[in-house]
Amino acid sequence: MTTQQPQPGHGPANRAVFDGVESPQDDHRSVVILGGGPAGLTAALYAARANLDPLVLQGVAPGGQLITTTHVENYPGFAEGILGPEWMQRFADQAARFGAELRYGSVTAVEVTQRPLHLLVDDDAVVLADAVIIATGASAKYLGLVSEQRLVGRGVSACATCDGAFFRDQEVAVVGGGDAAMEEALFLTRFATRVYVIHRRNALRASQIMQERALAHPQITFVWNTVVEEVLGDEAVEGLHLRHVQTDERSTLPVRGLFVAIGHQPNTAVFQGWLAMDELGYIRTAPGSTRTSVAGVFAAGDVQDRVYRQAVTAAGSGAMAAIDAERWLAHHAVPAASQLAALVDAR
Ligand code: NDP
Repeated sequence: MTTQQPQPGHGPANRAVFDGVESPQDDHRSVVILGGGPAGLTAALYAARANLDPLVLQGVAPGGQLITTTHVENYPGFAEGILGPEWMQRFADQAARFGAELRYGSVTAVEVTQRPLHLLVDDDAVVLADAVIIATGASAKYLGLVSEQRLVGRGVSACATCDGAFFRDQEVAVVGGGDAAMEEALFLTRFATRVYVIHRRNALRASQIMQERALAHPQITFVWNTVVEEVLGDEAVEGLHLRHVQTDERSTLPVRGLFVAIGHQPNTAVFQGWLAMDELGYIRTAPGSTRTSVAGVFAAGDVQDRVYRQAVTAAGSGAMAAIDAERWLAHHAVPAASQLAALVDAR
């Protein structure tokens, strides 16, 4: 695996991006958390309870990927399951209860060679931070069909682990030919009576062992050289319109679920050139910690995890990031003006 090394001072954002943008002194925080999914909000909870007064920039879609999920049934402690949006609201309420400030907004540029760290929010405001926790997540790639987007959460999913159990005794399809598609297909055989793997070529990209397992599975049928042209159904998925890429032959496949497994895109574009990332753009963290290649910058959740990608693992790494940030600040941070005043008063 290769690593994209950061080139401090040569990132796509530079100091000039911040020129002319107002940066009020009081928007200097000990900890700024980027992302309002399970990782970011758990980091916020822990940082708030450590009296760090964290600011959470939740982006444009607070709640992360779970906002598009219906029932979450694989998070311990919720025996009956819980609706994704309601659950994320509970995460947010809990963090806010201990003093975290939750704000809408996305970071559009960073400058991490200066102290405090500079964050440009929605291109029009600067927030300064002693420590930053990046929990901006990853976005599942979709095919881009209008009918597909309309039925996300109603039969179209990008996460078999999350939604597979809803398809007990039904037929479903998986699109993709990589490891994720094989893994999703194999997982889905626990519930579905048949799993069709629809792949645009006649050779798989997946590792040999995953290919062998999927190809040998009696409940999995491969549909080669084929693309999905339309997802059928008004309120729920009822089938797929398919096209053979060589013969142009059209067909209909009557399935109740479509799992899109054509890769994920970590939401790290704004940090390109500043932080070490792997070749897919996931932020690299030091083994056993959430430290990135820049001191005072930590990463948690899917933005640094291309393997597990679960809410429970994201939340766990969010807690780690807050603890790492708290310890780092205890050793490195310059106290904010208000804290200095309090120290002077206490003498
Ligand atoms: P990959 O990039 O490996 O595979 C994506 C697949 O989707 C490819 O087969 C590709 O086709 C297909 N695809 C891409 N775009 C489209 C499209 N628009 N329409 C139709 N098909 C499309 O992504 P994965 O998520 O599978 O894996 C990402 C990384 O994570 C890999 O390194 C993988 O090894 C790893 N991983 C490992 C796992 C494990 O070891 N258990 C489990 C899951 C992931 P084509 O082949 O034609 O390009």
